[in-house]
Amino acid sequence: MLVAISGAGLAGLSCAKYLVDNGHTPLIVERQSVPGGKIAAWKDKDGDWYETGLHIFFGAYPNLLQLFKELDIEDHLQWKTHSMIFNQLENRETYSRFDFPDLPAPINGMVAILRNNDMLTWEEKIKFGIGLLPAIIKGQNYVEEMDCYSWSEWISKQNIPSRVEKEVFIAMSKALNFINPDEISATILLTALNRFLQEKNGSKMAFLDGSPTERLCQPLIDYITDKGGEVRLNTSLKEILLTEDNNVKGFLVGGRNGEPDQVIEADAYISAMPVDPLKAKLPKAWKELEEFKKLEGLEGVPVINLHLWFDKKLTDIDHLLFSRSDLLSVYADMSNTCREYSDPNKSMLELILAPAQEWINKSDQTIIDVTMMEIQKLFPQHFEGKQKAKLLKYHIVRTPRSVYKATPNRQAHRPSQRTSIPNFYLAGDYTMQKYLGSMEGAVLSGKLAAQAIVKDYPI
Ligand SMILES: Cc1cc2nc3c(=O)[nH]c(=O)nc-3n(C[C@H](O)[C@H](O)[C@H](O)COP(=O)(O)OP(=O)(O)OC[C@H]3O[C@@H](n4cnc5c(N)ncnc54)[C@H](O)[C@@H]3O)c2cc1C
Repeated sequence: MLVAISGAGLAGLSCAKYLVDNGHTPLIVERQSVPGGKIAAWKDKDGDWYETGLHIFFGAYPNLLQLFKELDIEDHLQWKTHSMIFNQLENRETYSRFDFPDLPAPINGMVAILRNNDMLTWEEKIKFGIGLLPAIIKGQNYVEEMDCYSWSEWISKQNIPSRVEKEVFIAMSKALNFINPDEISATILLTALNRFLQEKNGSKMAFLDGSPTERLCQPLIDYITDKGGEVRLNTSLKEILLTEDNNVKGFLVGGRNGEPDQVIEADAYISAMPVDPLKAKLPKAWKELEEFKKLEGLEGVPVINLHLWFDKKLTDIDHLLFSRSDLLSVYADMSNTCREYSDPNKSMLELILAPAQEWINKSDQTIIDVTMMEIQKLFPQHFEGKQKAKLLKYHIVRTPRSVYKATPNRQAHRPSQRTSIPNFYLAGDYTMQKYLGSMEGAVLSGKLAAQAIVKDYPI
Protein backbone atom coordinates (compact mmCIF):
# COMPACT_ATOMS: atom_id res chain seq x y z
CA MET A 1 0.00 0.00 0.00
CA LEU A 2 1.35 3.46 -0.92
CA VAL A 3 1.61 5.98 1.95
CA ALA A 4 2.48 9.61 1.17
CA ILE A 5 4.35 11.45 3.93
CA SER A 6 5.21 15.17 4.01
CA GLY A 7 8.39 15.90 5.98
CA ALA A 8 11.67 13.99 6.27
CA GLY A 9 12.48 14.91 9.87
CA LEU A 10 12.95 12.12 12.41
CA ALA A 11 9.16 11.64 12.70
CA GLY A 12 8.63 11.18 8.93
CA LEU A 13 11.72 8.99 8.52
CA SER A 14 10.92 6.74 11.50
CA CYS A 15 7.32 6.43 10.31
CA ALA A 16 8.54 5.36 6.85
CA LYS A 17 10.96 2.88 8.45
CA TYR A 18 8.22 1.16 10.43
CA LEU A 19 5.91 1.18 7.39
CA VAL A 20 8.45 -0.64 5.17
CA ASP A 21 9.02 -3.10 8.02
CA ASN A 22 5.32 -3.93 7.76
CA GLY A 23 5.18 -4.31 3.98
CA HIS A 24 3.90 -0.83 3.06
CA THR A 25 5.51 1.56 0.55
CA PRO A 26 6.14 5.07 1.88
CA LEU A 27 6.89 8.06 -0.35
CA ILE A 28 8.29 11.03 1.61
CA VAL A 29 8.35 14.56 0.18
CA GLU A 30 10.72 16.97 1.93
CA ARG A 31 10.84 20.63 1.05
CA GLN A 32 14.48 21.16 2.02
CA SER A 33 17.53 20.02 0.05
CA VAL A 34 18.75 18.00 3.05
CA PRO A 35 16.76 15.57 5.22
CA GLY A 36 16.46 15.79 9.00
CA GLY A 37 14.39 18.94 9.69
CA LYS A 38 15.52 20.08 13.13
CA ILE A 39 18.49 17.70 13.05
CA ALA A 40 19.56 18.79 9.53
CA ALA A 41 23.23 19.70 8.98
CA TRP A 42 25.28 21.21 6.16
CA LYS A 43 28.92 21.14 5.09
CA ASP A 44 30.64 24.51 4.50
CA LYS A 45 33.25 25.28 1.83
CA ASP A 46 36.06 24.03 4.14
CA GLY A 47 34.31 20.70 4.64
CA ASP A 48 33.23 21.57 8.23
CA TRP A 49 29.74 20.57 9.34
CA TYR A 50 27.27 22.94 10.98
CA GLU A 51 23.95 21.86 12.42
CA THR A 52 20.44 23.08 13.24
CA GLY A 53 20.98 22.11 16.88
CA LEU A 54 23.46 20.70 19.35
CA HIS A 55 21.83 17.29 19.88
CA ILE A 56 22.13 15.05 22.91
CA PHE A 57 20.88 11.47 23.03
CA PHE A 58 19.75 10.30 26.49
CA GLY A 59 19.68 6.85 28.06
CA ALA A 60 15.99 7.57 28.69
CA TYR A 61 15.22 7.40 24.94
CA PRO A 62 14.08 3.76 24.44
CA ASN A 63 12.53 4.19 20.98
CA LEU A 64 15.45 6.12 19.53
CA LEU A 65 17.97 3.65 20.97
CA GLN A 66 15.90 0.75 19.62
CA LEU A 67 15.98 2.45 16.19
CA PHE A 68 19.80 2.69 16.32
CA LYS A 69 19.85 -1.02 17.14
CA GLU A 70 17.48 -1.93 14.30
CA LEU A 71 19.58 0.09 11.85
CA ASP A 72 22.73 -1.55 13.25
CA ILE A 73 24.33 1.86 13.94
CA GLU A 74 24.67 1.75 17.73
CA ASP A 75 28.39 2.41 17.28
CA HIS A 76 27.52 5.89 15.88
CA LEU A 77 26.74 7.02 19.44
CA GLN A 78 29.58 8.21 21.67
CA TRP A 79 28.45 7.76 25.29
CA LYS A 80 29.95 10.11 27.87
CA THR A 81 30.56 9.60 31.59
CA HIS A 82 27.30 9.56 33.57
CA SER A 83 27.49 13.16 34.79
CA MET A 84 25.83 16.55 34.49
CA ILE A 85 28.29 19.45 34.48
CA PHE A 86 27.30 23.04 35.25
CA ASN A 87 29.41 26.19 35.08
CA GLN A 88 29.37 27.84 38.52
CA LEU A 89 27.37 31.06 38.70
CA GLU A 90 29.80 33.13 40.75
CA ASN A 91 32.99 31.87 39.19
CA ARG A 92 32.07 30.84 35.68
CA GLU A 93 35.34 29.21 34.67
CA THR A 94 34.83 26.58 37.39
CA TYR A 95 32.44 23.64 37.25
CA SER A 96 30.00 21.87 39.52
CA ARG A 97 29.30 18.21 38.74
CA PHE A 98 26.57 15.71 39.45
CA ASP A 99 28.29 12.34 39.06
CA PHE A 100 26.00 9.31 38.94
CA PRO A 101 27.64 6.20 40.46
CA ASP A 102 27.09 2.74 38.96
CA LEU A 103 24.19 1.88 41.28
CA PRO A 104 20.50 1.12 40.58
CA ALA A 105 18.00 4.00 40.13
CA PRO A 106 16.93 6.04 42.02
CA ILE A 107 19.90 5.50 44.38
CA ASN A 108 22.45 6.64 41.77
CA GLY A 109 20.52 9.94 41.22
CA MET A 110 20.11 10.51 44.95
CA VAL A 111 23.83 9.93 45.55
CA ALA A 112 24.67 12.33 42.67
CA ILE A 113 22.50 15.05 44.22
CA LEU A 114 23.60 14.45 47.81
CA ARG A 115 27.29 14.45 46.88
CA ASN A 116 27.07 17.82 45.12
CA ASN A 117 27.60 20.54 47.69
CA ASP A 118 28.53 23.43 45.38
CA MET A 119 25.06 24.31 44.20
CA LEU A 120 22.53 23.44 46.90
CA THR A 121 22.69 23.47 50.70
CA TRP A 122 21.48 20.45 52.69
CA GLU A 123 18.36 22.37 53.71
CA GLU A 124 17.58 23.15 50.06
CA LYS A 125 18.10 19.53 49.02
CA ILE A 126 15.77 18.30 51.77
CA LYS A 127 13.07 20.83 50.91
CA PHE A 128 13.38 19.96 47.22
CA GLY A 129 13.10 16.22 48.03
CA ILE A 130 9.96 16.82 50.11
CA GLY A 131 8.47 19.00 47.34
CA LEU A 132 9.08 16.23 44.82
CA LEU A 133 7.37 13.52 46.90
CA PRO A 134 3.90 13.80 45.26
CA ALA A 135 5.50 13.33 41.80
CA ILE A 136 7.43 10.29 43.05
CA ILE A 137 4.46 8.73 44.88
CA LYS A 138 1.60 9.56 42.47
CA GLY A 139 3.68 9.22 39.29
CA GLN A 140 2.74 10.32 35.76
CA ASN A 141 -0.92 11.25 36.55
CA TYR A 142 0.29 13.89 39.00
CA VAL A 143 2.96 15.04 36.52
CA GLU A 144 0.27 15.56 33.84
CA GLU A 145 -2.03 17.43 36.27
CA MET A 146 0.78 19.91 36.99
CA ASP A 147 0.55 21.18 33.38
CA CYS A 148 -1.61 24.02 34.72
CA TYR A 149 1.43 25.53 36.51
CA SER A 150 4.66 27.03 35.29
CA TRP A 151 7.76 25.55 36.93
CA SER A 152 8.23 28.75 38.99
CA GLU A 153 4.61 28.53 40.22
CA TRP A 154 5.03 24.83 41.06
CA ILE A 155 8.28 25.45 42.98
CA SER A 156 6.64 28.10 45.13
CA LYS A 157 3.47 25.95 45.62
CA GLN A 158 5.70 23.12 46.95
CA ASN A 159 7.60 25.49 49.29
CA ILE A 160 10.87 24.75 47.52
CA PRO A 161 13.38 27.62 47.98
CA SER A 162 13.64 29.81 44.87
CA ARG A 163 17.43 29.39 44.95
CA VAL A 164 16.90 25.76 43.81
CA GLU A 165 15.32 27.13 40.64
CA LYS A 166 18.09 29.65 40.14
CA GLU A 167 20.88 27.14 40.72
CA VAL A 168 19.60 24.17 38.74
CA PHE A 169 16.33 24.67 36.89
CA ILE A 170 16.94 27.82 34.82
CA ALA A 171 19.64 25.81 33.05
CA MET A 172 17.45 22.70 32.70
CA SER A 173 14.42 24.65 31.50
CA LYS A 174 16.46 26.43 28.81
CA ALA A 175 18.00 23.11 27.76
CA LEU A 176 14.65 21.31 27.49
CA ASN A 177 12.48 23.91 25.75
CA PHE A 178 14.61 27.03 25.17
CA ILE A 179 12.54 29.09 27.66
CA ASN A 180 12.86 30.13 31.32
CA PRO A 181 11.18 28.46 34.36
CA ASP A 182 8.58 31.22 34.68
CA GLU A 183 7.29 30.20 31.23
CA ILE A 184 7.80 26.43 31.02
CA SER A 185 5.07 24.02 32.15
CA ALA A 186 5.89 22.13 35.37
CA THR A 187 4.96 18.92 33.48
CA ILE A 188 8.05 19.23 31.27
CA LEU A 189 10.61 19.39 34.07
CA LEU A 190 8.78 16.82 36.23
CA THR A 191 8.67 14.41 33.26
CA ALA A 192 12.41 14.82 32.68
CA LEU A 193 13.18 14.45 36.41
CA ASN A 194 11.04 11.31 36.62
CA ARG A 195 12.90 9.69 33.71
CA PHE A 196 16.30 10.79 35.01
CA LEU A 197 15.66 9.55 38.53
CA GLN A 198 13.70 6.38 37.79
CA GLU A 199 15.90 4.89 35.05
CA LYS A 200 19.46 3.90 35.92
CA ASN A 201 20.94 5.40 32.72
CA GLY A 202 18.13 7.90 32.08
CA SER A 203 20.35 10.97 32.27
CA LYS A 204 23.38 9.37 30.63
CA MET A 205 24.25 11.34 27.47
CA ALA A 206 25.65 10.47 24.07
CA PHE A 207 26.77 12.56 21.10
CA LEU A 208 26.67 11.33 17.51
CA ASP A 209 30.14 10.56 16.11
CA GLY A 210 29.55 12.82 13.10
CA SER A 211 26.82 14.89 11.47
CA PRO A 212 23.19 13.80 11.99
CA THR A 213 22.78 13.95 8.21
CA GLU A 214 25.38 11.27 7.52
CA ARG A 215 25.28 9.29 10.76
CA LEU A 216 21.53 9.06 11.38
CA CYS A 217 19.39 10.34 8.47
CA GLN A 218 21.35 8.59 5.70
CA PRO A 219 21.22 5.13 7.33
CA LEU A 220 17.46 5.63 7.78
CA ILE A 221 17.02 6.67 4.13
CA ASP A 222 19.16 3.74 2.92
CA TYR A 223 17.03 1.35 4.97
CA ILE A 224 13.77 2.82 3.64
CA THR A 225 14.84 2.89 -0.02
CA ASP A 226 16.39 -0.61 0.13
CA LYS A 227 12.96 -1.90 1.10
CA GLY A 228 11.12 -0.10 -1.71
CA GLY A 229 10.29 3.30 -0.14
CA GLU A 230 11.31 6.70 -1.58
CA VAL A 231 12.50 10.03 -0.17
CA ARG A 232 12.15 13.03 -2.52
CA LEU A 233 14.11 16.08 -1.37
CA ASN A 234 13.47 19.62 -2.65
CA THR A 235 9.77 18.77 -2.93
CA SER A 236 7.13 20.70 -0.95
CA LEU A 237 3.64 19.74 0.01
CA LYS A 238 1.68 22.69 -1.45
CA GLU A 239 -1.89 21.63 -0.80
CA ILE A 240 -3.86 18.78 0.74
CA LEU A 241 -6.52 17.96 -1.91
CA LEU A 242 -9.88 16.64 -0.66
CA THR A 243 -12.60 14.34 -1.99
CA GLU A 244 -16.26 15.44 -1.84
CA ASP A 245 -16.61 13.85 1.62
CA ASN A 246 -13.50 15.68 2.85
CA ASN A 247 -11.12 12.73 2.94
CA VAL A 248 -7.70 13.20 1.34
CA LYS A 249 -7.69 12.75 -2.46
CA GLY A 250 -4.02 13.60 -2.97
CA PHE A 251 -0.99 15.69 -2.01
CA LEU A 252 -0.27 18.51 -4.46
CA VAL A 253 3.52 18.80 -4.42
CA GLY A 254 5.95 21.12 -6.16
CA GLY A 255 9.68 21.02 -6.79
CA ARG A 256 11.98 23.85 -5.67
CA ASN A 257 13.91 23.72 -8.92
CA GLY A 258 11.05 24.72 -11.19
CA GLU A 259 9.65 21.23 -11.88
CA PRO A 260 5.89 21.29 -12.60
CA ASP A 261 3.50 20.60 -9.72
CA GLN A 262 2.33 17.03 -9.36
CA VAL A 263 -0.50 15.25 -7.53
CA ILE A 264 0.56 12.24 -5.47
CA GLU A 265 -2.34 9.84 -4.99
CA ALA A 266 -1.78 7.32 -2.21
CA ASP A 267 -3.83 4.97 -0.03
CA ALA A 268 -3.04 6.89 3.16
CA TYR A 269 -1.41 10.24 3.95
CA ILE A 270 0.70 11.50 6.84
CA SER A 271 1.74 15.00 7.82
CA ALA A 272 5.16 14.72 9.46
CA MET A 273 5.63 18.49 9.19
CA PRO A 274 6.02 20.64 12.31
CA VAL A 275 2.82 22.11 13.70
CA ASP A 276 3.27 25.61 12.19
CA PRO A 277 3.47 24.52 8.50
CA LEU A 278 0.69 21.99 9.12
CA LYS A 279 -1.61 24.77 10.35
CA ALA A 280 -0.80 26.76 7.20
CA LYS A 281 -1.66 23.78 4.95
CA LEU A 282 -4.91 22.68 6.62
CA PRO A 283 -7.76 22.55 4.08
CA LYS A 284 -10.56 25.05 4.78
CA ALA A 285 -13.07 22.25 5.31
CA TRP A 286 -11.04 20.84 8.24
CA LYS A 287 -10.34 24.09 10.07
CA GLU A 288 -13.46 23.97 12.25
CA LEU A 289 -12.87 20.36 13.35
CA GLU A 290 -11.99 20.41 17.05
CA GLU A 291 -8.84 18.26 16.64
CA PHE A 292 -7.37 20.77 14.13
CA LYS A 293 -8.80 23.91 15.75
CA LYS A 294 -6.94 23.10 18.96
CA LEU A 295 -3.62 23.24 17.08
CA GLU A 296 -3.94 27.04 17.36
CA GLY A 297 -2.66 26.56 20.92
CA LEU A 298 0.68 25.18 19.68
CA GLU A 299 3.48 27.27 18.24
CA GLY A 300 7.18 26.69 17.63
CA VAL A 301 9.65 28.46 19.93
CA PRO A 302 12.64 30.40 18.49
CA VAL A 303 16.18 29.15 19.07
CA ILE A 304 19.64 29.84 17.67
CA ASN A 305 22.50 27.36 17.27
CA LEU A 306 26.03 28.76 17.07
CA HIS A 307 29.31 27.20 15.92
CA LEU A 308 32.58 28.98 16.69
CA TRP A 309 35.98 27.73 15.53
CA PHE A 310 39.04 28.94 17.52
CA ASP A 311 42.75 28.81 16.73
CA LYS A 312 43.51 27.00 20.01
CA LYS A 313 42.04 24.58 22.48
CA LEU A 314 39.79 26.24 25.06
CA THR A 315 38.97 23.11 27.08
CA ASP A 316 39.49 19.37 27.08
CA ILE A 317 36.10 18.57 28.63
CA ASP A 318 34.45 15.80 26.62
CA HIS A 319 30.85 16.42 27.69
CA LEU A 320 27.80 18.67 27.51
CA LEU A 321 28.03 21.78 29.70
CA PHE A 322 25.25 23.90 31.21
CA SER A 323 26.53 27.45 30.77
CA ARG A 324 24.36 29.16 33.48
CA SER A 325 24.45 32.25 31.28
CA ASP A 326 21.39 34.47 30.69
CA LEU A 327 22.18 34.47 26.98
CA LEU A 328 23.26 30.89 26.37
CA SER A 329 21.89 27.49 27.29
CA VAL A 330 23.98 24.32 26.87
CA TYR A 331 27.22 24.04 24.90
CA ALA A 332 29.98 21.58 24.07
CA ASP A 333 33.43 21.63 22.58
CA MET A 334 32.66 19.39 19.61
CA SER A 335 36.37 18.97 18.88
CA ASN A 336 36.35 16.76 22.02
CA THR A 337 32.87 15.23 21.98
CA CYS A 338 32.45 14.15 18.35
CA ARG A 339 34.89 11.86 16.49
CA GLU A 340 34.39 13.42 13.06
CA TYR A 341 34.77 17.00 14.33
CA SER A 342 37.77 16.16 16.51
CA ASP A 343 40.86 18.35 16.53
CA PRO A 344 43.64 18.01 19.12
CA ASN A 345 44.76 21.64 18.74
CA LYS A 346 41.66 23.75 18.06
CA SER A 347 38.22 24.10 19.63
CA MET A 348 34.87 24.17 17.87
CA LEU A 349 32.25 25.29 20.35
CA GLU A 350 28.64 24.53 19.54
CA LEU A 351 26.33 26.64 21.72
CA ILE A 352 22.60 27.14 22.00
CA LEU A 353 21.36 30.69 22.44
CA ALA A 354 18.06 30.66 24.36
CA PRO A 355 15.60 32.19 25.01
CA ALA A 356 16.12 33.60 21.51
CA GLN A 357 13.03 35.77 20.93
CA GLU A 358 15.01 38.99 21.44
CA TRP A 359 17.92 37.82 19.23
CA ILE A 360 16.39 35.88 16.36
CA ASN A 361 16.19 38.92 14.03
CA LYS A 362 19.49 40.51 15.08
CA SER A 363 22.48 40.60 12.73
CA ASP A 364 25.15 37.88 12.79
CA GLN A 365 27.71 40.40 14.04
CA THR A 366 25.54 41.45 16.99
CA ILE A 367 24.94 37.82 17.97
CA ILE A 368 28.63 36.94 17.70
CA ASP A 369 29.65 40.01 19.71
CA VAL A 370 27.37 39.15 22.66
CA THR A 371 28.31 35.46 22.47
CA MET A 372 32.04 36.26 22.53
CA MET A 373 31.48 38.29 25.72
CA GLU A 374 29.93 35.19 27.30
CA ILE A 375 32.70 32.90 26.04
CA GLN A 376 35.28 35.19 27.64
CA LYS A 377 33.51 34.67 30.97
CA LEU A 378 33.50 30.88 30.47
CA PHE A 379 37.18 30.66 29.45
CA PRO A 380 38.80 33.85 30.84
CA GLN A 381 42.28 32.28 30.91
CA HIS A 382 42.25 32.09 27.09
CA PHE A 383 41.32 35.73 26.55
CA GLU A 384 43.92 37.42 28.79
CA GLY A 385 47.55 38.26 28.10
CA LYS A 386 49.41 37.91 24.80
CA GLN A 387 48.24 34.45 23.66
CA LYS A 388 44.55 35.29 23.31
CA ALA A 389 42.38 32.74 21.50
CA LYS A 390 41.30 33.99 18.08
CA LEU A 391 37.93 33.31 16.52
CA LEU A 392 38.68 31.78 13.10
CA LYS A 393 35.14 31.51 11.72
CA TYR A 394 31.55 30.92 12.76
CA HIS A 395 28.15 29.70 11.54
CA ILE A 396 24.81 30.77 12.97
CA VAL A 397 21.65 28.71 12.37
CA ARG A 398 18.40 30.43 13.34
CA THR A 399 15.22 28.37 13.82
CA PRO A 400 12.40 30.89 14.32
CA ARG A 401 9.90 28.11 15.08
CA SER A 402 11.49 25.00 16.54
CA VAL A 403 9.82 22.57 18.97
CA TYR A 404 6.39 23.64 20.29
CA LYS A 405 6.60 26.12 23.15
CA ALA A 406 5.71 24.05 26.22
CA THR A 407 4.02 26.70 28.36
CA PRO A 408 1.27 25.62 30.83
CA ASN A 409 -1.88 23.96 29.47
CA ARG A 410 -0.36 22.94 26.11
CA GLN A 411 -0.83 19.19 26.68
CA ALA A 412 -4.55 19.49 25.87
CA HIS A 413 -3.68 20.97 22.46
CA ARG A 414 -1.48 18.08 21.31
CA PRO A 415 -3.28 15.87 18.79
CA SER A 416 -3.24 12.10 18.49
CA GLN A 417 -1.47 10.44 15.52
CA ARG A 418 -4.82 9.07 14.28
CA THR A 419 -7.26 11.78 13.14
CA SER A 420 -11.00 11.64 12.43
CA ILE A 421 -10.18 11.81 8.69
CA PRO A 422 -10.02 8.09 7.78
CA ASN A 423 -6.95 8.28 5.50
CA PHE A 424 -5.00 11.10 7.21
CA TYR A 425 -2.52 10.70 10.10
CA LEU A 426 -0.13 12.96 12.02
CA ALA A 427 3.47 12.41 13.10
CA GLY A 428 5.81 14.92 14.70
CA ASP A 429 7.26 15.67 18.12
CA TYR A 430 4.30 17.98 18.94
CA THR A 431 1.76 15.12 18.60
CA MET A 432 0.70 13.33 21.77
CA GLN A 433 3.30 10.91 23.07
CA LYS A 434 5.02 10.86 26.42
CA TYR A 435 8.40 12.25 25.35
CA LEU A 436 7.45 15.89 24.66
CA GLY A 437 9.32 17.88 21.94
CA SER A 438 12.47 15.81 21.45
CA MET A 439 14.14 13.39 19.06
CA GLU A 440 12.70 10.53 21.12
CA GLY A 441 9.23 12.12 20.85
CA ALA A 442 9.61 12.50 17.07
CA VAL A 443 10.70 8.87 16.58
CA LEU A 444 7.94 7.56 18.84
CA SER A 445 5.30 9.68 17.07
CA GLY A 446 6.41 8.24 13.70
CA LYS A 447 6.26 4.72 15.10
CA LEU A 448 2.76 5.32 16.54
CA ALA A 449 1.50 6.74 13.21
CA ALA A 450 2.91 3.70 11.38
CA GLN A 451 1.30 1.35 13.92
CA ALA A 452 -2.08 3.07 13.41
CA ILE A 453 -1.82 2.61 9.63
CA VAL A 454 -0.70 -1.02 9.95
CA LYS A 455 -3.76 -1.64 12.13
CA ASP A 456 -6.21 0.28 9.93
CA TYR A 457 -4.96 -1.22 6.63
CA PRO A 458 -4.14 -4.89 7.25
CA ILE A 459 -2.26 -6.40 4.28
C1 LIG B 1 18.59 23.91 18.51
C2 LIG B 1 17.90 22.59 18.80
C3 LIG B 1 18.46 21.71 19.73
C4 LIG B 1 17.83 20.52 20.04
N1 LIG B 1 18.40 19.66 20.94
C5 LIG B 1 17.81 18.48 21.19
C6 LIG B 1 18.45 17.52 22.03
O1 LIG B 1 19.57 17.74 22.51
N2 LIG B 1 17.81 16.33 22.27
C7 LIG B 1 16.58 16.05 21.73
O2 LIG B 1 16.04 14.96 21.97
N3 LIG B 1 15.96 16.94 20.93
C8 LIG B 1 16.54 18.13 20.63
N4 LIG B 1 15.92 19.02 19.79
C9 LIG B 1 14.57 18.71 19.31
C10 LIG B 1 14.58 17.74 18.13
O3 LIG B 1 15.49 18.18 17.15
C11 LIG B 1 13.18 17.72 17.51
O4 LIG B 1 12.24 17.43 18.53
C12 LIG B 1 13.01 16.66 16.42
O5 LIG B 1 14.13 16.60 15.56
C13 LIG B 1 11.74 17.00 15.64
O6 LIG B 1 11.52 16.06 14.61
P1 LIG B 1 10.18 16.14 13.73
O7 LIG B 1 10.33 15.13 12.66
O8 LIG B 1 9.00 16.08 14.62
O9 LIG B 1 10.16 17.62 13.09
P2 LIG B 1 11.19 18.28 12.08
O10 LIG B 1 12.55 17.83 12.37
O11 LIG B 1 10.92 19.75 12.13
O12 LIG B 1 10.78 17.72 10.66
C14 LIG B 1 9.72 18.22 9.90
C15 LIG B 1 10.11 18.24 8.44
O13 LIG B 1 8.99 18.70 7.65
C16 LIG B 1 9.50 19.45 6.59
N5 LIG B 1 8.45 20.27 5.99
C17 LIG B 1 7.86 21.39 6.50
N6 LIG B 1 6.94 21.86 5.65
C18 LIG B 1 6.95 21.03 4.56
C19 LIG B 1 6.21 21.00 3.35
N7 LIG B 1 5.31 21.91 3.07
N8 LIG B 1 6.46 20.00 2.48
C20 LIG B 1 7.39 19.04 2.74
N9 LIG B 1 8.13 19.03 3.88
C21 LIG B 1 7.89 20.02 4.78
C22 LIG B 1 10.61 20.25 7.23
O14 LIG B 1 11.49 20.80 6.27
C23 LIG B 1 11.25 19.20 8.12
O15 LIG B 1 12.29 18.51 7.48
C24 LIG B 1 16.57 20.21 19.43
C25 LIG B 1 16.01 21.07 18.49
C26 LIG B 1 16.67 22.25 18.16
C27 LIG B 1 16.07 23.17 17.13
